[in-house]
Amino acid sequence: MSKRILVTGGAGFLGSHLCDRLIGEGHHVICLDNLFTSQMLNIAHLEGRENFEFVRHDVTEGFRFDVDEIYNLACPAAPGHYQYNPIKTMKTSVLGTMHALGLAKRIGARVLQASTSEVYGDPDVHPQPESYRGSVNTIGTRSCYDEGKRAAETLMFDYWRVHKVRIKVVRIFNTYGPRMHPYDGRVVSNFIRQAIAGESVTIYGDGNQSRSFCYVDDLIDGLIRAMETPDEFTGPVNLGNPVEFTIRQLAEHVVRLVGGSVQIELARPLPEDDPKQRCPDITLARRVLQWEPKVPLEAGLKRTVDWFRSVNLSDYTAPTPNY
Ligand code: NAD
Ligand code: UDP
Repeated sequence: MSKRILVTGGAGFLGSHLCDRLIGEGHHVICLDNLFTSQMLNIAHLEGRENFEFVRHDVTEGFRFDVDEIYNLACPAAPGHYQYNPIKTMKTSVLGTMHALGLAKRIGARVLQASTSEVYGDPDVHPQPESYRGSVNTIGTRSCYDEGKRAAETLMFDYWRVHKVRIKVVRIFNTYGPRMHPYDGRVVSNFIRQAIAGESVTIYGDGNQSRSFCYVDDLIDGLIRAMETPDEFTGPVNLGNPVEFTIRQLAEHVVRLVGGSVQIELARPLPEDDPKQRCPDITLARRVLQWEPKVPLEAGLKRTVDWFRSVNLSDYTAPTPNY
């Protein structure tokens, strides 16, 4: 059945892929975005489609649409982006989620919150199951994002308990793929952009910190499966690839894929509160969503490298000077 669906942050990296999938499935999509960290380029191919609407709006201000489902993705996600205006980042997470929930309450829509593995902070449990409560610094430079997302989860569960809003909380782990902002400063986009330009790839710290990287198509599949679960299922549920790599291994993969004589450089110390390891326990997603990532790192990186080679980098403006 065709649904009306609101995607906040719909012009961003994940949001634009989600809009593609939902439109492909025959739904009517309203994409709401203030274009802080994205560009119209990501959704240009959807313009003119009769089941697609773009609305330029900031989620810190209220919004009202008549929809069946809300995917709340609006929030800067890369450290350089969310640290640029940390107070605004906190407002976006908290007020944006409150506005999405207020709307869901009024119209009876389902709402899915794009939470994050950052709610686990620099974890001392490994891999991280949903029951782990995290080790998060409340006063550091990452706190605006981590604590904003934690407060957003609290709001989700209070609206569920108090107002019976039908909620889904998904905790997304590092995801990569085409349409990542080339100047977002995240590790995959930095390494690929640097390697293609023939520059050294810049490792922060000793490169032994770990992450697990999920290809965007897998992640979008998980988001849609989570939204379609029965009302009793609220999450939180981890979505990410459980195969873990050190940042040094990632650098070696990228250098090999791009080819040429690219050097790996230990560029600077590890940033403040940078988690030393991160890997999702996806037992719950496997059981409830029948979901697990299918695209191995090598194949996903190749598609991402191909995309980076195909775009004109001068079409992208860096949203902040901090990339
Ligand atoms: P992104 O920066 O590409 O997308 C975020 C979108 O939100 C952008 O289009 C941006 O312009 C928009 N936005 C930001 N502030 C806004 C505001 N105040 N009002 C309206 N729109 C606003 O990042 P992404 O990687 O696509 O992340 C999407 C969501 O997924 C975010 O909520 C992020 O926290 C979450 N997430 C992503 C990852 C990942 O690895 N990509 C991991 C964990 C969580
Ligand atoms: N990182 C790196 N070189 C870069 C960018 C990032 O070594 O050019 C490191 C960063 O310090 C972190 C990891 O890669 O340890 C992942 O960083 P990213 O910003 O992509 O995501 P997050 O820290 O939010 O997982």
